[in-house]
Amino acid sequence: MLEVDQTGLRISVLASGSTGNITYIESDKVKLLVDCGFSGKKAVELLQQIDRRPEDLNAILVTHEHSDHIKGVGIMARKYELDVYANQNTWNAMESKLGKLKLDQKHHFDLDHTMTIGDIDVSSFGVSHDAVDPQFYTFQKNDKRFVMLTDTGYVSDKMREYVKNADAYLFESNHDLSMLRMGRYPWSLKQRIIGDKGHLSNEDGALALAEIVGDRTKRVYLGHLSKENNVKEIAYSTVEEILMQKDTGVNHTYRLYDTDPIEAAPLFHL
Ligand SMILES: [Zn+2]
Ligand SMILES: [Zn+2]
Repeated sequence: MLEVDQTGLRISVLASGSTGNITYIESDKVKLLVDCGFSGKKAVELLQQIDRRPEDLNAILVTHEHSDHIKGVGIMARKYELDVYANQNTWNAMESKLGKLKLDQKHHFDLDHTMTIGDIDVSSFGVSHDAVDPQFYTFQKNDKRFVMLTDTGYVSDKMREYVKNADAYLFESNHDLSMLRMGRYPWSLKQRIIGDKGHLSNEDGALALAEIVGDRTKRVYLGHLSKENNVKEIAYSTVEEILMQKDTGVNHTYRLYDTDPIEAAPLFHL
């Protein structure tokens, strides 16, 4: 008889927010980070919160070169001998910031490609953001799919089709528009955040989500909240209300979850 591998993915959004991002994804064969926007010390502490050891990690996938995504990538890669994946333009933009890595640690992950890392099928897709060549990732094993999508100014039709009806999401809910408008950021920075290459507001994120979630969807983690222009309660209630109005099955067929800028979300199984 054919042996079917029943064990899927285990995932924790270790920390998410405008000040730093790091996500952990494992199968029985491989243990990955997506981005590491924290010091090595903090990254290790976050892994400990979910009972995992940095020595067991295999690789870090990088989405783009902003410091809230790469701050600790070089340190972690050197200390724990991790493979690092990013596309060529992102490598060019971040390499000097990472410090020295061995040639065999550096890997290319081109935009719009799928690579099998261990037993996880990882696919990259482009987003609209003011980095050189930002890409986010989907992770698939045994028919279960986890999608990460933050750091984008809008969700194009192409992106929407690509990430539709996954089992779980980390999805951007960056700012509350009125908090941003009233806040102390200079006008140019406000324009940058609101713009097509900035970040999704709670409202825009929710409107995109309403067209993306499907009958397979069980979990949506709201992520990359702005420290200055958002709070968890407002993000959650804004997104929940829109998803309820649109009759998408929120709180029935799937649930919304918070993420935290400095605390790991409990590991969940897919
Ligand atoms: Zn960014
Ligand atoms: Zn970011």
